[in-house]
Amino acid sequence: MKAENNRPEQRLQGTAAAPGVARGPVYLLMKGMAIVACQKVSDPEAEIRRLESALGATRREISKLRDDVALKLNESEASIFDAHLLVLEDVALIDDVTREVKQTGFNVEFCFQEVAQRYIEIFEKMDDDFLRERAADIRDVTGRVLEQLLGTQPERAGEAAKLHVVVARDLTPSDTAGLHDDGVSAFVTEEGGRTSHSAIMARSLDIPAVVGVKGLMEAVQEGDVILVDGESGLIVLNPTPETIDGYRGKEQAIRNRRDRVLREVALPDLTSDGTAFMLLANIGDPAEMEDALGYCARGVGLYRTENLYLRLDSWPSEEVQYLEYAEVVQQAKGLPVTFRTLDLGGDKRLGDLADEANPFMGYRAVRLCLERPDVFRPQLRAIIRAAVLGPVQVMFPMISGVEELRRAKEIFRDVEAELAREGVWPASPIRLGAMIEIPSAAAVAAELAAESDFFSVGTNDLVQYLLAVDRGNQRVASLYDPCHPAVVRTLIAIFGAAQDRGIPVAVCGELGGDPLWAPLLVGLGVHELSMTPAALPEVRFVLRHSDATELRELAAKVTCADAAKTRTLLQDFAAAKLKLR
Ligand code: PEP
Ligand code: MG
Repeated sequence: MKAENNRPEQRLQGTAAAPGVARGPVYLLMKGMAIVACQKVSDPEAEIRRLESALGATRREISKLRDDVALKLNESEASIFDAHLLVLEDVALIDDVTREVKQTGFNVEFCFQEVAQRYIEIFEKMDDDFLRERAADIRDVTGRVLEQLLGTQPERAGEAAKLHVVVARDLTPSDTAGLHDDGVSAFVTEEGGRTSHSAIMARSLDIPAVVGVKGLMEAVQEGDVILVDGESGLIVLNPTPETIDGYRGKEQAIRNRRDRVLREVALPDLTSDGTAFMLLANIGDPAEMEDALGYCARGVGLYRTENLYLRLDSWPSEEVQYLEYAEVVQQAKGLPVTFRTLDLGGDKRLGDLADEANPFMGYRAVRLCLERPDVFRPQLRAIIRAAVLGPVQVMFPMISGVEELRRAKEIFRDVEAELAREGVWPASPIRLGAMIEIPSAAAVAAELAAESDFFSVGTNDLVQYLLAVDRGNQRVASLYDPCHPAVVRTLIAIFGAAQDRGIPVAVCGELGGDPLWAPLLVGLGVHELSMTPAALPEVRFVLRHSDATELRELAAKVTCADAAKTRTLLQDFAAAKLKLR
């Protein structure tokens, strides 16, 4: 049987990124390339005047961006925008558009998009690397001109996407945040992996999502209906009535499982034999505290401070940061809050950070902070001021060795002393931790443990760097395998180093909130797991229904296993606890 719109059903497999099943009409989000209707116009000269004014507005926009970057970074970073300004001066491109408007009598945005696309394709096919890279400049600049002509913000889905399933080639974390406000019911992307930041954000927003769907953009059409299975990573385009019926059972099973785990959400963090563990929340917005507390988090194990920067798309002042952190600490009502200092870079890019060939290995997180006291110190001041209101910890992301940790701590203690002179005293001493998420940090974990008050293991990055697999790249998503023995062994070494030194170790990467992994981590001696709030009930349920001995036995079995065996052991264990089989 066919779907209602008469298009054949088509199934595509991607990576499950956020749980839940959703179905709805497709909303195609063509980032940087809006869908432009072709219309005859009565006054081509007026169209050309619109083009001139759009070019002028774009010129002003880019010049402003250029000046901001020159001020905040340096002249050489800003010079990229000179190249962008040159595209706007390209007489050949502008002449081609003008001619096309006059000859065809079509609207200028349509003609502009056609010509721009032609130019992009010509440059993309060039042999010379330098010239090929100009295609990206042209795409970027012409996208801005198109925005001006259309008077739109093409990166936002907006009201029109309400109750739709957004389909895009890729999404940035800030796009994803916007989707939630737009009332989108699910999203699917061709690019991306389970731990890319847009996937993490989807989980915290509780929107079902599938990422890394090869061939998606080619298969999907405006007018399609799509079913998204965020549990298995399957998407079904134009599902038949039979497929929809079949899914009703699965949706019901998911609801039943959720109800069961929610019934126990407020019970203590104790295994069935009374061993304590502690489940905390990963959040990046004060609004998420409600969910965190609703699901009985015992505090915030990871506050992603860069989300404020991404929401504002600019560098917030100390005061703006203070207000946000103070709100979080107050809402936590005495529960501990761990602020991670700024982790911009990688796939979390602020508009005016220069592009890099390898952003995940580039100017990111603590590297940026150590070079930018004008950014780092106001953030630390804001955190320490908020700590007057309740217990706070601070951790530094992307620590690669002891030297870096010492420098970050030194700056922190200096800022703390400065505030003490101003009469600002935290409610309790602020403990300083290192995030362990780079293999070099894991290799010197013993030395880092000697200088840290605690460790927090960022498994999302650790797995990507350890296995040299980009966490957001769909092509290599199958290689991003936390069950790889190298990952298991490295985790054991990190936990061991912390335990030998007697400092607490938490896991705040996605593995901590995975009901498959949580039993293993606790079995390996980790007592604190921090996760997206929506993951708390299920992880709590699995751990509460386990006893410490069987968790240790599971860990003993897994440590000597290969990846496939590890996966089976973890799946069987969680399935038995959740009574899935
Ligand atoms: C991690 O890398 O595991 C982590 C928690 O940080 P993020 O996902 O923000 O890089
Ligand atoms: Mg990380």
